[in-house]
Formats: sequence, C-alpha cells, structure tokens
Amino acid sequence: MSRKVNIGKVSLGGKNPVRIVGMVKTPSKEIKKLVKEAQVLEREGAEIIRIAFKEKKDVQIAKILKKEINVPLVADIHFNWELAFLAMEAGLEGIRLNPLNIYKKNKVREIIAEAKKRKVAVRVGVNSGGFKKEFSSPLKLAKEMAKVASDYVKILEEEGFFDIIVSLKTSEVKSTVLANRIFSQRFNYPLQLGVTATGPYLEGVVKSSMGAGILLFQGLGDALRVSLTGSSKEEVRIAKTILQFLGIRNFFAEIISCPTCGRCKVDLIKIVEKFKKEIEKMDEVSLPIKIAIMGCVVNGPGEAYQADIGLAFGEKRGTIFKKNRIIKITKEDRAIKDLLEEVRNALQ
Ligand code: SF4
Repeated sequence: MSRKVNIGKVSLGGKNPVRIVGMVKTPSKEIKKLVKEAQVLEREGAEIIRIAFKEKKDVQIAKILKKEINVPLVADIHFNWELAFLAMEAGLEGIRLNPLNIYKKNKVREIIAEAKKRKVAVRVGVNSGGFKKEFSSPLKLAKEMAKVASDYVKILEEEGFFDIIVSLKTSEVKSTVLANRIFSQRFNYPLQLGVTATGPYLEGVVKSSMGAGILLFQGLGDALRVSLTGSSKEEVRIAKTILQFLGIRNFFAEIISCPTCGRCKVDLIKIVEKFKKEIEKMDEVSLPIKIAIMGCVVNGPGEAYQADIGLAFGEKRGTIFKKNRIIKITKEDRAIKDLLEEVRNALQ
C-alpha cells in the first residue's frame, strides 16, 4: 500500500480514494475567468487543482484563488526555484517540482526545508518532454524516468521529508505504465497517474484510459489527472469516468446501451442522448445505479442483465424491467419519461 500524504486537507495514498486532480488553463491575466474555471472544476469533482506558477505576479492570483475555492492548490513550478518559495508563502498546499529543470541540490534542499516547515506537499513530476535526448525503446525511457525520480526523492528523504507524491508521464501508454511500475517497485510514495500531451479528444481519452487504467487495475495510483488538448472540465469528467468504470469510485448513474442492429426499431442514438441529458439533471444520480436502454426485447433484457433497471424497445412500445423482471409496458413516445420515473422510484 502507498504511503499517506496530505495536500492541505485532502489526503491521498494509503486507503484514501484515488483523487481527481484538475488543472486550470485560463491565462493568469484573465483572473475572473480563471476563478470561474477553478470553481467549475471544483463543482465537477476536482479534489486538488493545479495551477501554473510561472512568475512573481502569480502570487496575487494564487491568493485570490485560495479565497474563492475550497480544494487544495498545487503550484506547478519549472526552472525558477524562487517561485517555489513564493508559492509556499502564498499559502498553496502543494508544489510540483520538475527534477529536469530544478536540480541544483542546494536549492532543492532549501525548498524542501521550507516545505517541511510549512507542511507543504511536494510532487516530484518527471515528464518525458523534459529530456534532451532520444531513447531507443519505451523501456529505456521508463527506466531513465524512474531513475531521475528516484534520485530526486532521495534528496528529499535526506532532508527528512516524506510528504512526496510522484508523477511519471510520457505521451504514450507503454512508457508511462513501465515508468510507474519500475518506480513503485522501489518506493511507496503516492503516484499521480496520467499520460501527458495526449493529443486531440479521442486520442486523449483512449490514451488516458489505457495508461491510467492498466496501472489502476494493478493497484497502482493514488491520484489521476487526465490531460487533453481540450477543456479542463472534460478532463475531470473523464478522470471520474475512468475510476467509475474500473469500479474504484462512484460518481454518476451509468448508462448501458446496445450498439443497435437490424432488430432495432427506434432511433436509439437519439433516445440515449436525450436520456443522458435528463439523467444528468437529477441530483440523485450520484447514487450508484446502472440503467440499460436496449434496442429490442429479443436480446435487450438479457444483454442488460447487469443493469439495475432497463428499457427495451419493441414494435412501438417499450418494456421496462428490473434485472430480468418486467415491471411496465409503455408506449414508445412515453418510454423515456416512464424510465426516468422508475429510476427515481428505485433511488428512493
Ligand atoms: S439489444 Fe437488440 S437491437 Fe440492440 S444490439 Fe442487441 S439484438 Fe440488436
């Protein structure tokens, strides 16, 4: 089991749930928009929020953000070690140090002494993009990343500092998985998982799901940050979805729907989209429930057996069932309304 580490009031590692990490993307000069983005992430489920901390002016932004949101903030620091001190002075609960660009041992030791004094957690974040050389295989890259992280962690440990989180990210699945595995064989610090620079939406979702999914399934990973060339809100949503579909955490009602085939007599794609919008409006949906919407009564109930409640369409009608038991026959145009009603009843 990984070691428990606190980032402000949020604990990760040990028996804590895998934490969702969000990242604000608005340029810091647009402060109102930035605060709004952070609030949206918090509402969406981010439990830790990372901010880019790249110049002295960011102290003011960090202070404003701290007043407006309730989840801990982690400052992402690169190159300039002085910023680490400023972020800690601003009251941020965590800092991310990049071993590939803040590496002077005496400066690292000074930062760590301050972090220890202020009880600030430190994420040692190694990204493959920081290397100035090419690697002939994913394994060689992974080994180098794990070594860089290990050497850095040892400096922190020499200072008697153990509030460490580690992230090892590349832009591909294999080396990310390998790097985390290799590192975790030597240390039990909490790992923040994620694949970085994943590309457009579809590529990002698949890479993130695979990279984090493989590691989480093997019991590794204490926090997850999905990285997309897209909205920060979507990143948080996908992180939640990954955790839910691995059965690690529960955030929303899960819809199971069939791929449709020649037996399907309705526009199931439209129906499922409509149902999804409706179910997202319900407050109760954070309760664990699986709802199936299937295109026919021939195979629908059987295929949806794992669902708690389901709807299978037939000739101008819908059959609502709980597990394999039929509870209502309804008209096609009333089917979604009736299904929502049954979901409400089931959640009461
Ligand atoms: S549930 Fe029916 S319509 Fe949907 S894929 Fe299966 S057989 Fe086809």
